[in-house]
Amino acid sequence: MVNTIISVQDLVKNYGSFEAVKGISFAVYEGEIFGLLGPNGAGKSTTLEIIETLRTKTSGSVMVNGFDLDNEPHEIKKIIGVQLQTSGFYPNLNLVQLIHLFAGLYNREIDAMALLDSVNLRDKAKAKVKELSGGQKQRFSIATTLINDPKIIFLDEPTTGLDPQARRNLWDLIRDIRSKGTTVIITTHYMDEAEYLCDRVAIVDSGKIVALNSPDGLIDELVATGFERPKEVKQANLEDVFITLTGKSLREN
Ligand code: ADP
Ligand code: MG
Repeated sequence: MVNTIISVQDLVKNYGSFEAVKGISFAVYEGEIFGLLGPNGAGKSTTLEIIETLRTKTSGSVMVNGFDLDNEPHEIKKIIGVQLQTSGFYPNLNLVQLIHLFAGLYNREIDAMALLDSVNLRDKAKAKVKELSGGQKQRFSIATTLINDPKIIFLDEPTTGLDPQARRNLWDLIRDIRSKGTTVIITTHYMDEAEYLCDRVAIVDSGKIVALNSPDGLIDELVATGFERPKEVKQANLEDVFITLTGKSLREN
C-alpha cells in the first residue's frame, strides 16, 4: 500500500506578473525517489523551495507528512533535509566542524565520522570544502541533508557538472539513502539519471506538469501513440565507450 507523504494541490507561484508555477498538483509516496524533470526555467526549484518552506507560494495547498505548510512550517522543517549550495558553507571550517555546526542548529548530537563514512568522505574529515572535488562537494552537501535524520530529502540538480564516474557514484549514494527508508525528491536534466533512479517522475514545462508516471510507464505511453525512433538504436552509446575505457572507479572524487 502506498502512503502519500507530500501532497501538492493547485500550487501557483507568481513573481510579479510572471507565472512561474501555474497550478500544479502531485503526490509523493513515502519511500520513493520522485523526480521533477524539465528544462531550465520550468519551475522545478521554485516548487521544491516552496515545499521546503524557503519560499512563499501565491496560492494552493501543500501537505508534508500530515502537516499543512500554512499552519505548521516548523514541523515540516524538522522532518526534511535540504541540500545547501556548497558555496554557502563557512570557508574556514573543516568537514567535521561544519557537521557539528549544523547538528547544533538542529539541537542534535551526531557522530560526524560515521556520517562522513556513509558518503565515503572519512579521509577528508579535516579538509575544507574548497579543497574537495566536485563529486566530493556534492557528497558532502548530501551528507548535510541527513544530519537531522529526515524522513524526506530534497536534491536540486545534485549531479550537474559532475563527470560520469562521479555521477554514478552519487546515484549509488542516493539509492542507498532511499533503501534506508528516506523519501527522495530530486530534480535533474539528465534522462538517464531519472530512468535509473526515479520510481516516478513528473515532467514540468513552463510551470505545468505535462506528464507524471514511472519512467517505464511514460515510455510505454509514448510508444502506444505510435512513436518510433527515427533510426535503429546502437547497442551502445558514447557514454558506454567512455565508462568502458576509463572504468567506473572514482578519480578525483
Ligand atoms: P527551474 O528550477 O526549473 O530551472 P526556477 O523555479 O528556478 O526553474 O524558475 C522558474 C521561473 O521563475 C524562471 O523563469 C525564473 O527566471 C523565474 N524566477 C525564479 N526565481 C525568481 C525570482 N526570485 N524572481 C523572479 N523570477 C524568478
Ligand atoms: Mg532549478
